[in-house]
Amino acid sequence: MNQPLLEVRDLDKVFQVGRATVQALRQVSLTLERGECHAVVGESGSGKSTLANLVLGLTQPSTGSLLFNGKTLPARRPLALRRAIQLVQQNPLSALNRARTIGASLRLPLDVHDIGNKRERLTRVGGLLREVGLDPSLAGRLPASLSGGQRQRVAIARALACAPALLVLDEPTSALDVLVQARMLQLLQAVKQQHGLTYLFITHDLAVVRSIADRVTVLEHGRVVETGTVAEVFAAPREPYTRRLLAAVPVVSAADAALRDRLRAESAGVMEN
Ligand code: ADP
Ligand code: MG
Repeated sequence: MNQPLLEVRDLDKVFQVGRATVQALRQVSLTLERGECHAVVGESGSGKSTLANLVLGLTQPSTGSLLFNGKTLPARRPLALRRAIQLVQQNPLSALNRARTIGASLRLPLDVHDIGNKRERLTRVGGLLREVGLDPSLAGRLPASLSGGQRQRVAIARALACAPALLVLDEPTSALDVLVQARMLQLLQAVKQQHGLTYLFITHDLAVVRSIADRVTVLEHGRVVETGTVAEVFAAPREPYTRRLLAAVPVVSAADAALRDRLRAESAGVMEN
Protein backbone atom coordinates (compact mmCIF):
# COMPACT_ATOMS: atom_id res chain seq x y z
CA MET A 1 0.00 0.00 0.00
CA ASN A 2 1.25 3.42 -0.89
CA GLN A 3 0.28 5.29 2.23
CA PRO A 4 2.12 8.58 2.83
CA LEU A 5 4.41 8.63 5.86
CA LEU A 6 3.08 11.97 7.08
CA GLU A 7 -0.04 13.92 6.22
CA VAL A 8 -0.50 17.44 7.49
CA ARG A 9 -4.13 18.51 7.17
CA ASP A 10 -5.49 22.03 7.40
CA LEU A 11 -3.23 23.12 10.23
CA ASP A 12 -3.89 26.45 11.88
CA LYS A 13 -1.60 27.71 14.61
CA VAL A 14 -2.43 30.86 16.51
CA PHE A 15 -0.11 32.26 19.17
CA GLN A 16 -1.35 34.59 21.85
CA VAL A 17 1.20 37.31 22.50
CA GLY A 18 -0.16 39.45 25.32
CA ARG A 19 -3.47 40.70 23.94
CA ALA A 20 -2.40 40.29 20.34
CA THR A 21 -2.68 37.11 18.31
CA VAL A 22 -0.20 35.90 15.71
CA GLN A 23 -1.47 33.44 13.16
CA ALA A 24 1.69 31.50 12.33
CA LEU A 25 0.01 28.88 10.11
CA ARG A 26 -3.19 29.04 8.07
CA GLN A 27 -4.80 25.95 6.59
CA VAL A 28 -1.45 24.30 5.93
CA SER A 29 -1.65 20.91 4.25
CA LEU A 30 1.15 18.81 2.85
CA THR A 31 2.01 15.18 2.31
CA LEU A 32 5.32 13.42 2.81
CA GLU A 33 5.72 10.31 0.72
CA ARG A 34 7.99 7.62 2.07
CA GLY A 35 11.60 8.15 1.13
CA GLU A 36 11.21 11.64 -0.23
CA CYS A 37 13.00 14.80 0.76
CA HIS A 38 10.28 17.42 1.01
CA ALA A 39 11.59 20.95 1.36
CA VAL A 40 9.65 23.73 3.06
CA VAL A 41 10.83 27.18 2.06
CA GLY A 42 9.76 30.70 2.88
CA GLU A 43 11.04 33.96 4.25
CA SER A 44 11.87 34.41 7.90
CA GLY A 45 8.64 34.45 9.90
CA SER A 46 6.64 32.49 7.31
CA GLY A 47 5.91 29.69 9.81
CA LYS A 48 8.53 27.08 8.91
CA SER A 49 9.74 26.36 12.45
CA THR A 50 6.18 26.39 13.78
CA LEU A 51 5.37 23.65 11.28
CA ALA A 52 8.46 21.71 12.41
CA ASN A 53 7.44 22.01 16.06
CA LEU A 54 3.94 20.74 15.28
CA VAL A 55 5.30 17.73 13.40
CA LEU A 56 7.61 16.99 16.34
CA GLY A 57 4.75 17.32 18.82
CA LEU A 58 6.50 20.14 20.68
CA THR A 59 3.43 22.29 20.25
CA GLN A 60 -0.19 21.55 19.38
CA PRO A 61 -2.19 22.86 16.42
CA SER A 62 -5.04 25.29 17.05
CA THR A 63 -7.05 23.31 14.51
CA GLY A 64 -6.24 20.63 11.95
CA SER A 65 -4.54 17.27 12.24
CA LEU A 66 -1.36 15.32 11.61
CA LEU A 67 -1.37 11.71 10.45
CA PHE A 68 1.66 9.46 10.68
CA ASN A 69 1.43 6.11 8.90
CA GLY A 70 -2.25 6.87 8.42
CA LYS A 71 -2.95 7.37 12.13
CA THR A 72 -3.68 10.65 13.90
CA LEU A 73 -0.74 11.78 16.00
CA PRO A 74 -1.92 12.18 19.58
CA ALA A 75 -1.18 15.33 21.60
CA ARG A 76 0.92 13.30 24.01
CA ARG A 77 3.22 11.20 21.92
CA PRO A 78 4.06 7.73 23.13
CA LEU A 79 7.76 6.86 23.20
CA ALA A 80 7.62 4.89 19.94
CA LEU A 81 6.32 7.91 18.06
CA ARG A 82 8.86 10.24 19.62
CA ARG A 83 11.51 7.81 18.51
CA ALA A 84 10.19 7.71 14.95
CA ILE A 85 10.33 11.47 14.34
CA GLN A 86 13.67 13.14 15.11
CA LEU A 87 14.96 16.70 14.81
CA VAL A 88 18.17 18.17 13.45
CA GLN A 89 18.22 21.89 14.11
CA GLN A 90 20.26 24.81 12.91
CA ASN A 91 22.50 25.29 15.90
CA PRO A 92 23.99 22.05 17.21
CA LEU A 93 25.62 23.80 20.15
CA SER A 94 22.24 24.68 21.58
CA ALA A 95 20.95 21.21 20.69
CA LEU A 96 23.74 19.37 22.52
CA ASN A 97 24.26 19.51 26.27
CA ARG A 98 27.57 21.35 26.68
CA ALA A 99 28.41 19.52 29.88
CA ARG A 100 27.94 16.08 28.34
CA THR A 101 30.58 14.27 26.31
CA ILE A 102 29.74 13.42 22.72
CA GLY A 103 29.60 9.74 23.69
CA ALA A 104 27.16 10.45 26.53
CA SER A 105 24.97 12.55 24.22
CA LEU A 106 24.80 9.69 21.73
CA ARG A 107 24.16 7.10 24.43
CA LEU A 108 21.22 9.03 25.89
CA PRO A 109 18.65 8.20 23.15
CA LEU A 110 19.80 4.56 23.30
CA ASP A 111 19.12 4.54 27.05
CA VAL A 112 15.79 6.37 26.75
CA HIS A 113 14.54 4.02 24.05
CA ASP A 114 16.14 1.00 25.68
CA ILE A 115 18.12 -0.05 22.61
CA GLY A 116 20.66 -2.86 23.08
CA ASN A 117 22.57 -3.84 26.21
CA LYS A 118 25.41 -1.85 27.76
CA ARG A 119 28.10 -3.27 25.53
CA GLU A 120 26.01 -2.94 22.38
CA ARG A 121 25.31 0.71 23.18
CA LEU A 122 29.00 1.41 23.46
CA THR A 123 29.69 -0.20 20.09
CA ARG A 124 26.75 1.63 18.59
CA VAL A 125 28.13 5.02 19.68
CA GLY A 126 31.38 4.32 17.79
CA GLY A 127 29.43 3.10 14.77
CA LEU A 128 27.25 6.21 14.74
CA LEU A 129 30.29 8.49 14.83
CA ARG A 130 31.93 6.60 12.00
CA GLU A 131 28.76 6.72 10.00
CA VAL A 132 28.69 10.53 10.09
CA GLY A 133 32.35 10.70 9.10
CA LEU A 134 33.81 11.29 12.56
CA ASP A 135 36.51 9.42 14.45
CA PRO A 136 35.07 7.31 17.31
CA SER A 137 37.72 8.81 19.61
CA LEU A 138 35.62 12.01 19.62
CA ALA A 139 33.24 10.22 22.01
CA GLY A 140 35.28 11.43 24.97
CA ARG A 141 35.23 15.10 23.95
CA LEU A 142 32.89 17.93 24.87
CA PRO A 143 30.87 19.79 22.19
CA ALA A 144 32.86 23.00 22.73
CA SER A 145 36.06 21.35 21.49
CA LEU A 146 34.53 20.42 18.12
CA SER A 147 34.13 22.52 14.98
CA GLY A 148 30.66 23.65 13.91
CA GLY A 149 30.61 21.03 11.17
CA GLN A 150 31.68 18.25 13.53
CA ARG A 151 29.01 19.27 16.04
CA GLN A 152 26.33 19.17 13.36
CA ARG A 153 27.54 15.68 12.43
CA VAL A 154 27.12 14.65 16.08
CA ALA A 155 23.59 16.08 16.04
CA ILE A 156 22.84 14.00 12.93
CA ALA A 157 24.30 10.90 14.62
CA ARG A 158 22.13 11.50 17.66
CA ALA A 159 19.04 11.83 15.48
CA LEU A 160 19.94 8.53 13.80
CA ALA A 161 20.69 6.73 17.08
CA CYS A 162 17.23 5.33 17.64
CA ALA A 163 16.52 4.42 14.01
CA PRO A 164 13.81 6.99 13.17
CA ALA A 165 11.60 7.02 10.07
CA LEU A 166 11.38 10.78 9.64
CA LEU A 167 13.96 13.51 10.16
CA VAL A 168 12.77 17.08 10.56
CA LEU A 169 15.71 19.24 9.53
CA ASP A 170 15.25 22.91 10.43
CA GLU A 171 17.88 24.92 8.55
CA PRO A 172 20.51 22.21 9.23
CA THR A 173 23.20 23.81 7.07
CA SER A 174 22.40 27.50 7.54
CA ALA A 175 24.94 28.15 10.29
CA LEU A 176 27.78 26.48 8.40
CA ASP A 177 30.18 28.00 5.92
CA VAL A 178 29.85 27.16 2.27
CA LEU A 179 32.42 24.35 2.08
CA VAL A 180 31.20 22.59 5.22
CA GLN A 181 27.62 23.06 4.04
CA ALA A 182 28.27 21.19 0.81
CA ARG A 183 29.79 18.23 2.64
CA MET A 184 26.92 18.20 5.12
CA LEU A 185 24.43 17.93 2.28
CA GLN A 186 26.38 15.00 0.86
CA LEU A 187 26.31 13.32 4.27
CA LEU A 188 22.56 13.92 4.68
CA GLN A 189 21.94 12.45 1.26
CA ALA A 190 24.06 9.37 2.02
CA VAL A 191 22.42 8.82 5.41
CA LYS A 192 18.95 9.16 3.92
CA GLN A 193 19.75 6.53 1.32
CA GLN A 194 21.40 4.19 3.82
CA HIS A 195 18.51 4.24 6.30
CA GLY A 196 15.60 4.70 3.91
CA LEU A 197 14.62 7.91 5.70
CA THR A 198 12.09 10.56 4.81
CA TYR A 199 13.09 14.22 5.25
CA LEU A 200 11.09 17.31 6.05
CA PHE A 201 13.82 19.75 5.09
CA ILE A 202 13.28 23.35 6.14
CA THR A 203 15.48 25.96 4.56
CA HIS A 204 15.42 29.48 3.20
CA ASP A 205 18.22 28.58 0.76
CA LEU A 206 16.87 27.59 -2.63
CA ALA A 207 20.27 26.36 -3.76
CA VAL A 208 20.02 23.77 -0.98
CA VAL A 209 16.51 22.83 -2.13
CA ARG A 210 17.75 22.30 -5.65
CA SER A 211 20.57 20.06 -4.52
CA ILE A 212 18.74 17.80 -2.07
CA ALA A 213 14.92 17.98 -2.32
CA ASP A 214 12.44 16.00 -4.44
CA ARG A 215 9.45 18.22 -3.76
CA VAL A 216 9.03 21.66 -2.31
CA THR A 217 6.27 23.51 -0.50
CA VAL A 218 6.45 27.31 -0.36
CA LEU A 219 5.09 29.12 2.71
CA GLU A 220 4.17 32.79 2.70
CA HIS A 221 2.83 34.35 5.92
CA GLY A 222 1.83 30.91 7.16
CA ARG A 223 0.02 29.85 3.99
CA VAL A 224 1.02 27.30 1.39
CA VAL A 225 1.26 29.27 -1.84
CA GLU A 226 2.89 26.64 -4.01
CA THR A 227 3.81 22.97 -3.93
CA GLY A 228 5.23 20.59 -6.49
CA THR A 229 8.35 18.78 -7.59
CA VAL A 230 11.53 20.82 -7.38
CA ALA A 231 11.88 20.56 -11.16
CA GLU A 232 8.35 21.92 -11.72
CA VAL A 233 8.53 24.74 -9.22
CA PHE A 234 12.00 25.89 -10.25
CA ALA A 235 11.26 25.69 -13.97
CA ALA A 236 7.90 27.44 -13.83
CA PRO A 237 7.06 29.09 -10.50
CA ARG A 238 3.37 29.97 -10.55
CA GLU A 239 3.33 32.48 -7.72
CA PRO A 240 4.98 35.92 -7.80
CA TYR A 241 6.19 35.23 -4.25
CA THR A 242 8.01 32.07 -5.37
CA ARG A 243 9.51 33.99 -8.27
CA ARG A 244 10.80 36.60 -5.84
CA LEU A 245 12.28 33.91 -3.60
CA LEU A 246 13.96 32.26 -6.57
CA ALA A 247 15.39 35.54 -7.76
CA ALA A 248 16.82 36.15 -4.30
CA VAL A 249 18.92 32.96 -4.17
CA PRO A 250 21.99 34.27 -2.38
CA VAL A 251 25.07 33.92 -4.50
CA VAL A 252 28.05 34.95 -2.39
CA SER A 253 30.42 35.41 -5.30
CA ALA A 254 30.73 33.75 -8.68
CA ALA A 255 33.80 31.84 -7.47
CA ASP A 256 32.07 30.70 -4.29
CA ALA A 257 29.02 29.63 -6.24
CA ALA A 258 31.09 27.65 -8.73
CA LEU A 259 32.99 25.99 -5.90
CA ARG A 260 29.79 25.16 -4.09
CA ASP A 261 28.26 23.68 -7.22
CA ARG A 262 31.36 21.60 -7.85
CA LEU A 263 31.40 20.29 -4.29
CA ARG A 264 27.72 19.49 -4.35
CA ALA A 265 28.19 17.63 -7.58
CA GLU A 266 30.91 15.46 -6.15
CA SER A 267 29.38 12.19 -5.18
CA ALA A 268 32.17 10.78 -3.02
CA GLY A 269 33.78 11.87 0.20
CA VAL A 270 31.57 12.59 3.16
CA MET A 271 34.46 12.74 5.62
CA GLU A 272 34.88 15.87 7.70
CA ASN A 273 38.40 17.26 7.80
P1 ADP B 1 10.18 30.84 10.44
O1 ADP B 1 10.75 29.61 11.04
O2 ADP B 1 9.66 30.65 9.05
O3 ADP B 1 11.14 32.01 10.49
P2 ADP B 1 8.39 30.83 12.72
O4 ADP B 1 7.56 29.61 12.59
O5 ADP B 1 9.49 30.81 13.70
O6 ADP B 1 8.89 31.30 11.28
O7 ADP B 1 7.42 32.04 13.12
C1 ADP B 1 6.20 32.31 12.42
C2 ADP B 1 5.44 33.43 13.14
O8 ADP B 1 4.98 32.95 14.40
C3 ADP B 1 6.31 34.63 13.47
O9 ADP B 1 5.50 35.78 13.35
C4 ADP B 1 6.72 34.39 14.90
O10 ADP B 1 6.98 35.60 15.54
C5 ADP B 1 5.50 33.70 15.47
N1 ADP B 1 5.85 32.78 16.56
C6 ADP B 1 6.57 31.64 16.46
N2 ADP B 1 6.66 31.00 17.64
C7 ADP B 1 5.97 31.77 18.54
C8 ADP B 1 5.70 31.67 19.94
N3 ADP B 1 6.13 30.61 20.66
N4 ADP B 1 4.99 32.63 20.50
C9 ADP B 1 4.52 33.68 19.77
N5 ADP B 1 4.74 33.85 18.46
C10 ADP B 1 5.46 32.91 17.84
MG1 MG C 1 12.69 29.14 11.70
